[in-house]
Amino acid sequence: MLFDENAKEKIEDFYNRREEMERLKKGISEGRRIILVLGIRRIGKSSLVKVTLNSMNVPYIYFDVREVYIKYNYITSYGLYYALEEEFNKIVKSSIWSKIVDYLKRVRGVKVLGTGMEVEVEFSKYLKNIEPLLPQLFNALNDWAKDNEKKVVVVFDEAQYLRYSKINFRSLLAYVYDNLSCVTVVLTGSEVGLLHDLLRVNEPDSELYGRYMYEITLRKFSREQSIDFLVKGFHEYNITPPMDVIEEAVYKLDGIVGWLVTFGRICVDKGVSRDAIEETFVKGVKQVSRELKELYRRSIRYRLILEAIAYGHKTWSNIKRYLTARELKPIHDSILYSLLVTLQKMGIIEKEATKEGEIIYKIVDPVVEYTIKRGIT
Ligand code: ADP
Ligand code: MG
Repeated sequence: MLFDENAKEKIEDFYNRREEMERLKKGISEGRRIILVLGIRRIGKSSLVKVTLNSMNVPYIYFDVREVYIKYNYITSYGLYYALEEEFNKIVKSSIWSKIVDYLKRVRGVKVLGTGMEVEVEFSKYLKNIEPLLPQLFNALNDWAKDNEKKVVVVFDEAQYLRYSKINFRSLLAYVYDNLSCVTVVLTGSEVGLLHDLLRVNEPDSELYGRYMYEITLRKFSREQSIDFLVKGFHEYNITPPMDVIEEAVYKLDGIVGWLVTFGRICVDKGVSRDAIEETFVKGVKQVSRELKELYRRSIRYRLILEAIAYGHKTWSNIKRYLTARELKPIHDSILYSLLVTLQKMGIIEKEATKEGEIIYKIVDPVVEYTIKRGIT
């Protein structure tokens, strides 16, 4: 069903995006080393990756990095340890990964308990420091893939959160890139600029310097695609929606498929109406305010900048004036500049030239703008 709220797993629930799927498939079959799947939150990155991998029937491991971050407020060795153990315990029971246990057994400090469907792996020796285990696990996956003439995919979803860690992931990725030809790493990222900052492929002192990243970027649905998506979604429930409400929803939700799904679900439960659009925003606020809180913890100035933009002070000098008035002290240009750059790297705001040629800043997600305007966090 198109309006299912979890990240999609099956192609029949996944609308369109066939070009992006093909590109991802191509990258994996060609054995590209690192693939980046980029785009703002709720645009369909996790769904694209899951649907594509499931449809290719390739063996893969999936780490939700943001989940680890949220649980522990940091990517701790401990948090990663549990995430790894959980994921490896899934694959040792799966038929597509047959005999992977034999390869894991050879890794020092990995215990294998039980057999058949009861099999469990334990990395207990690594509870305090998981870092030395990581290359060994990747080696095991690569050896397994080589012997079985397969390719293996390891996904780090919302990989920019790996920067909150003492573990040197850049060096791990460089090791995989240079040595393990049967492993493809897929990194998804909502905070596109921050993911690039983590990888640092253009900097000579970086472990990943000069490595090629195969990129796939997901963009908002067009107006036509959004309308088509909603109409098809409603048809699955035998609903023929009034087009004026659909047009308004599409206009207000601005091609972000996650919000279209939320709107669709509300309508299926309560009927298609303008109220459902408002309710979508109210429901969206709950998610967005959590994300904004995370941001404001880093600097209250992010809040002031976003407020300025949401209230219509969209040019550099207007934002600066708003901040100065709110803080009752001047802000240095270089500081304001770097805050604005970070917000762009996070995909929260974007720069745009008006018809008059003036550069303005815009908030990318209408629900984020709504949340800021109402002062909810
Ligand atoms: P992201 O990982 O970019 O934050 P998700 O993959 O979690 O986005 O998708 C956000 C929401 O939109 C989920 O409810 C998901 O089911 C839905 N979704 C995303 N892409 C599609 C699509 N192409 N067709 C149908 N639903 C989609
Ligand atoms: Mg996701």
